[in-house]
Amino acid sequence: MSPVDKTDDEWRATLTPKQYAVLRKHDTEHPGTSPLLHEHRPGVFVCAGCGQELFSSDAKYESGSGWPSFYAASDHAVGTAEDSTLGMRRVEIHCSQCGGHLGHVFPDGPQPTGERYCTNGASLVFKPEE
Ligand code: FE
Repeated sequence: MSPVDKTDDEWRATLTPKQYAVLRKHDTEHPGTSPLLHEHRPGVFVCAGCGQELFSSDAKYESGSGWPSFYAASDHAVGTAEDSTLGMRRVEIHCSQCGGHLGHVFPDGPQPTGERYCTNGASLVFKPEE
């Protein structure tokens, strides 16, 4: 079965509570808490829900936000949606394969893109280069 087709109960059974809260319920992890903030090895960050590659370590940078940040996503890996919750207009980002919520993208990132993909580390799994 494709991971895209999982029911809510199946997601709940296969993800940790923190992964489930972020990916399936749009929760936001507390800033400064993700172990991936300190991940500096070469490799790729994949979706914790379905395993699709989302970000390369090449695009990771220190934003100072307390959330793992990237200036670009891997090709066709990340979808966007308007988010007007919390009284703000933001652009939500999610895995294009399973729809899992990742975080938001903001137009205040570094060159070459000027974008800041601000992610919840709980939505990602790091795969070091072999
Ligand atoms: Fe996914």
